[in-house]
Amino acid sequence: MRLSIHGCRGSIPSCSNDTVRYGGNTSCYELNFGDFQVFFDTGSGFRTVKFGKDKTKICLYSHWHHDHIQGLPFNADIFNPANEFTICSALSTKRPLRHTLQTYFSGGYFPVDIITTLKNLNFANISELQQGFGDQFKLDWLELNHPGGAAGYSVLHDCRKFCYLCDNEYEDDQSDRLLEFCLNADVVVWDGMFTQAELGAKKGWGHSSIEQGIRFFEHSGIGRLVIGHHAPSRTDAQLDDLANYLPTGVSFAMDGMEVEI
Ligand SMILES: [Zn+2]
Ligand SMILES: [Zn+2]
Repeated sequence: MRLSIHGCRGSIPSCSNDTVRYGGNTSCYELNFGDFQVFFDTGSGFRTVKFGKDKTKICLYSHWHHDHIQGLPFNADIFNPANEFTICSALSTKRPLRHTLQTYFSGGYFPVDIITTLKNLNFANISELQQGFGDQFKLDWLELNHPGGAAGYSVLHDCRKFCYLCDNEYEDDQSDRLLEFCLNADVVVWDGMFTQAELGAKKGWGHSSIEQGIRFFEHSGIGRLVIGHHAPSRTDAQLDDLANYLPTGVSFAMDGMEVEI
């Protein structure tokens, strides 16, 4: 398995001289394994993604906040009719999912109704994916703690396991469920938008802290924790400073980063 990070900034694309190294694109993570190319969210980082020719291409949406969907119509490869692209989310069945994306990308919000125009976009229920590809990889999901809801995912293939937990406001009573969900995971993506010092004023905003991620990692036995959803205002220099306190096995996500799993 290989994880490619195309966007790890939270909330809004944040491009400046101060965000060059960690990147300013919003959430888009790509997992390549076997015949599959699975994307977790299509934030602005999705714009430069290249589709593999013979790959089955799937997007699993965590939720519909704009930073997780806004890149969808800016990727050139989805305009190639030969590129079948399956869109799915554990957060809803396919009809409301299609309706939500069509509303966002049409009418007063967007100039072209791409959901209607692009016939190569296929909407699926998560149960259909679980059953349809169950002999090739094991897909699981759980509900995260986020305003409006969000879904976390795990993919198990060839004894390697990846978990995507973004966006999530960690609470202590989640601990057992999250630990069980991430059991024996090789790589977990964690929402570390805030520092512990910032978290108090941001209760209910739907995000966790970097320190909560470190504590989770230390109790979990997972192989590696990758912290993303960086706050829009967090500069490269600030992330470098914070990185000094990360234990071995925990790192900050960067746009363009690749992780072998
Ligand atoms: Zn977000
Ligand atoms: Zn969100």
